[in-house]
Amino acid sequence: MRYSRLFGKTYKFPSSKKKDKAWALLVQGGYFRSLGKGLFSFLPLGMKVYNRLKKIIRDELYELGGEEVLVPVVNPYSLWEASGRANLIDDEMLRFKDRTGKSYILSPTHEEAFVELARTAFTSYKDLPFFLFQFQTKFRDEERPRASLLRSKEFIMNDGYSFHKSYSDLNNFFPKIHAAYNNIFATCHLDVISAESTVGFMGGSKAYEFLSPSDNGKDLVLTCPNCGYSAKKKLAVGAKNYHLDDINFMSKIATPGAINMAKLADFFELPKYKLAKCMLFKGQSKLVMAVVRGDYGVSLHKLSEILGENITRKATKEEVIEQGLIPGYFSPINLSTDIDVTIIIDESIANTPNLVFGANEEGHSYLNTNFGVDFSCESVYDITEVKAGDRCLHCGSELEEVRCLEVGNIFKLDDFYTSRMDLTFQDDTGKVKHPYMGSYGIGMGRLIQAVVDKNRDDKGIVWPWYLAPFKVYLISIGKSKIVKELTEEIIELIGDDVLYDDRDESVGIKFRDAELLGIPLRIVVSKRYIEDEQVEFCTRRERDKWLVDKKHIIEEYNIIKKRESNIK
Ligand SMILES: [Zn+2]
Repeated sequence: MRYSRLFGKTYKFPSSKKKDKAWALLVQGGYFRSLGKGLFSFLPLGMKVYNRLKKIIRDELYELGGEEVLVPVVNPYSLWEASGRANLIDDEMLRFKDRTGKSYILSPTHEEAFVELARTAFTSYKDLPFFLFQFQTKFRDEERPRASLLRSKEFIMNDGYSFHKSYSDLNNFFPKIHAAYNNIFATCHLDVISAESTVGFMGGSKAYEFLSPSDNGKDLVLTCPNCGYSAKKKLAVGAKNYHLDDINFMSKIATPGAINMAKLADFFELPKYKLAKCMLFKGQSKLVMAVVRGDYGVSLHKLSEILGENITRKATKEEVIEQGLIPGYFSPINLSTDIDVTIIIDESIANTPNLVFGANEEGHSYLNTNFGVDFSCESVYDITEVKAGDRCLHCGSELEEVRCLEVGNIFKLDDFYTSRMDLTFQDDTGKVKHPYMGSYGIGMGRLIQAVVDKNRDDKGIVWPWYLAPFKVYLISIGKSKIVKELTEEIIELIGDDVLYDDRDESVGIKFRDAELLGIPLRIVVSKRYIEDEQVEFCTRRERDKWLVDKKHIIEEYNIIKKRESNIK
């Protein structure tokens, strides 16, 4: 390929938009362009990278017996009503009517369409399991799309869907897809953490996300450096420290002005773990009082899971007062029976003796309060938000908090869709059952940007071999016949893997663009070396330079190809 013929050359990116370095490089290098908010176009170079990524993914999924299909982006709205997800994801779904008045959506995911596809093709347990995948456009009407591929409204996803005769069969498939995903990310030179995650609007029972540690990410992951336990922060669990002590009698103490944890700790000269923290949240029908020890925070996700409703915010001071509670002093202890709030108590409260609680009276607190003695409830829960430095539940090591970018996820959907949409098969005894289902997804554009984020330097992109749009960036210096002939010879020898910079530009610009584009190997044909019948090789990643005899060019190229192909 001759650079002069390539549509979409390198491009000077406005400096104000350079905050996201990886995205800036992809635009500057001529890989992608923006079309509007959350909408992006792939240029020829971007398409080459995309197609290479497709091949990496296809090869892994074929190994698992996957078969590639394609379902439409436009789906009947009725499918989403059947699965019950229409309400769950309504705001992010673009819905429209055709000329007959029938409602359609631009699909944000394709579980429903795959259940319908499965319905047309199997009836018996003998057809199970099967695993289908596609590369297809999705549309999510994101409230806050980012000015890059990391969060766009329209995006291409590799999504796979497996159908199984039993939970155990789905369960056995899960580690295989997990391993395949790890292979895909390794081939892309992307280190990932696979963390336990929430199923959210996808439904089902279990979810894992693959996350690349990145300052550009929006996700926080708690991970154990010793045993490898990893989970999204909102659902991570940790071991709680308990401080045993003899139980003392509760007494009421005047604590004027001690309306928060810090002031209360100062007043009693006690550590925060000797205080109870009572927080009020807005539930759908009632206010919710969450009680944790003073050294912990509350996980809204855990609270929502226990209550079966989505808790998104604290109650306002007005709502606290309106409920008849005293700001800064409310607690579950001796709470007036007229006050109707849901109380959720963390296990740390039940297991810590002699706590300080608010006394439900202005300017007063209880000292030496004990669960089971001074107050009680039927169940206690884990509602704490785990943070860096907390102990791993499995091995006791200190957990670390890592900011990450999600690049893929896998879900055990069980029979969430197949039972709601009544997809059935007959098992070997003739009994009618719903198949178990899993779904698996990788955001293609997001992964490409995540790869660039981790494979770049101050000069430009450093593509992993398998993703590089071309393997060789060829530059010729001088216009003599002998330089031209050798250049043509190299193009002939290496073929489609060469991008020949034949532009009428300075050598400096060509060298700069070679680095920006990130092609793994640069070959320079120059009058300087040609008298010795040599050319210069230079690798993009290591910047190693050496001279190669012209008769050994293809041999040397194949050595590099072999070596780079094995680096993961
Ligand atoms: Zn651990």
